[in-house]
Amino acid sequence: MLLIPCPYCGPRPELEFTYAGEANISRPAEPESLSDEQWAAYLYQRTNPRGMHAERWRHVHGCGRYFNASRDTLSDQFQFSWKPGESPP
Ligand SMILES: [Zn+2]
Repeated sequence: MLLIPCPYCGPRPELEFTYAGEANISRPAEPESLSDEQWAAYLYQRTNPRGMHAERWRHVHGCGRYFNASRDTLSDQFQFSWKPGESPP
């Protein structure tokens, strides 16, 4: 069973979590100044790395909070997690 390290609750089974997308995506400060292509890139373009990837997760069936985690996409193993607003360890 895959365990995901919630920074609030500790390691829990993957069935308690939902994936919430790539981490560190921030909304543009002035979206009205972007071209359609730039806005589409913000909405839809994401990295798809082979290896370590920073992701956002939500502990839906636990504390209910969002957090960030670093996961190896090759082995599916989580390296560490951190709370939003904090720097990765
Ligand atoms: Zn939790």
